[in-house]
Amino acid sequence: MFQSIRWRIAVPYILLLLLTLLGLATYVASTVRQSYINQMQTEITADARLIAVRAAAALQDGAPPDELDRIARQSAAILNRRVTIIDAEGNVLAESHEAAAGMENHMERPEFLQAWTDGEGISLRDSETLGSEMLYAAVAVYPPGEESAGTPLGYVRVALPLQQIQQFINRMLRIFLGLTLAAALISTLIAAWIASRTTRSLRRLTEAVRQVPAGELFDEPVSRNSDEFGQLHLAFNQMAVRLRKQINDLDTERSKLAAVLAQMTDGVIIAGEEGEVQLINPAAENMFSITQESALGRTLAEALRSHQFVDLWQQCKQSGETVSTSIEIPTRRIFLQAVATPLGESLPGSILLLFQDLTRLRHLETVRRDFISNISHELRTPLASLKALTETLQESAFDDPPAARRFLQRMETEVDALSLMVSELLELSRIESGRVPLQLKAVDPKQVIQVAVDRMKLQAQRAGLEMVVDCPSGTPSILADQPRLEQVMVNLLHNAIKFTPAGGRISIHLESSGSEALFTVQDTGPGITEDDLPRIFERFYKADRARTSGGTGLGLAIARHLVEAHGGRIWAESQVGRGSTFRFSIPLAS
Ligand code: ADP
Repeated sequence: MFQSIRWRIAVPYILLLLLTLLGLATYVASTVRQSYINQMQTEITADARLIAVRAAAALQDGAPPDELDRIARQSAAILNRRVTIIDAEGNVLAESHEAAAGMENHMERPEFLQAWTDGEGISLRDSETLGSEMLYAAVAVYPPGEESAGTPLGYVRVALPLQQIQQFINRMLRIFLGLTLAAALISTLIAAWIASRTTRSLRRLTEAVRQVPAGELFDEPVSRNSDEFGQLHLAFNQMAVRLRKQINDLDTERSKLAAVLAQMTDGVIIAGEEGEVQLINPAAENMFSITQESALGRTLAEALRSHQFVDLWQQCKQSGETVSTSIEIPTRRIFLQAVATPLGESLPGSILLLFQDLTRLRHLETVRRDFISNISHELRTPLASLKALTETLQESAFDDPPAARRFLQRMETEVDALSLMVSELLELSRIESGRVPLQLKAVDPKQVIQVAVDRMKLQAQRAGLEMVVDCPSGTPSILADQPRLEQVMVNLLHNAIKFTPAGGRISIHLESSGSEALFTVQDTGPGITEDDLPRIFERFYKADRARTSGGTGLGLAIARHLVEAHGGRIWAESQVGRGSTFRFSIPLAS
């Protein structure tokens, strides 16, 4: 409770008030007592002088005890004091409240000693006879007519118990104490009220400020007071407005940065001083198959599980310069270009790691390389054989007409193969560049299959293959250019016939699924390896590296382009030794 500012203000004031009142009470009590004593001193000294005048004659007459006793008792009764008369040697001659006989010698009492030397003496002390505090005034009694001259006949002492004044002072102190307590109570209430009023705005301000980190807006109305609290309030308001603007700006910046990081196709990781992952974007999560939650706070080695990245980070850290390298992750068939850059002053000790996925680029590079080598190969074989035939013809066969005719026939076959390849290439490039406009209309898919099967039936029979067609009736029409789609079907059937050994089976199946019709050509041939499967739709690609199978390697490339031009998809599924399945989908007409 006393931690609060209002009590810290109120308590010292209350203590000060209490101390002041108590100090004042003590001071007043002692002053009142002192002035009372002073006044009483004067009074009882005067009383003593009077009694001394009365007692002077009796003392001179031999000090008859009755007479002195009478004087003492009478005076005591009138003045309401205690009166003692002693002779010059200190023997008690008369005593108003006690029997004088048997009382000890009083000459050693301070007031008598003082009166013996100065004629008058005063003393304030506890009475040895009565035990309470008394004020004594003693005066010397001189022979009548001599007054203060001559030798004293004796001494008169008047005593006043200070009980009364003590009682008065005690009463006064009690009143003071009561007043002090009442004042303390009232001042406590007033101090608490004032302090509470004063700190109310402070408490409201504290409450409002406390809400700010919880996302609440600081919308306390500005205090109307122009005191320190009012100014503090105003300053807080201004600060809150500025803070809110800065937080908004920061939020916007952070959102922009987060959006950029999220949309980037390059992977971004920021590693701290110890190599711990401080930031990772979704692209990097995908590349390394990790999640942000599992990566953050872990070291690069733990998160990426590859020493190559740790080496790159270490090189960059040691050199303090940008380092780049190409890294392959064989398990995921990913090829990355990694760049490590120290972040310098913006984030001291941290390193930015940027990963660019070059897998596709590298793949395109391989495709381009393979394309050139494949096309050269495709051209070289017929050209070499043409050259050999021409040479033989020139050298000898010219004179042997039947042989020359055979040679010319073979030359014609080679030229046909070459022109077929060139026309297929031309066709492919025309389809690719969109120069073959499709005549799309509603076509019966069964019709497409039937025409293609009829065209290939004879070839299949010759190859010793069984062809099974499974087309359920009622398949909806598709939106297609029929001759082009027939060509796709023929290409697939042609491959199936070419690669399936005699005795095998080719199944053709049609079904509609969702908004598309799905065509399937399945064979019982040798199948395609996992490595070749993604590449067979490339032009000139042949799974058979020796390229002995015949064909140009363009059939599937043409099929893919034609299907895609129809808005469909084409793909293959295969397992080595268990045949291949080619499927393509074409959108339905409606
Ligand atoms: P081509 O048949 O003229 O070689 P394609 O583009 O039609 O060219 O086929 C590319 C390659 O795909 C073929 O060389 C072959 O290795 C593979 N392939 C295609 N169809 C089949 C199939 N039904 N069975 C096995 N391999 C196939």
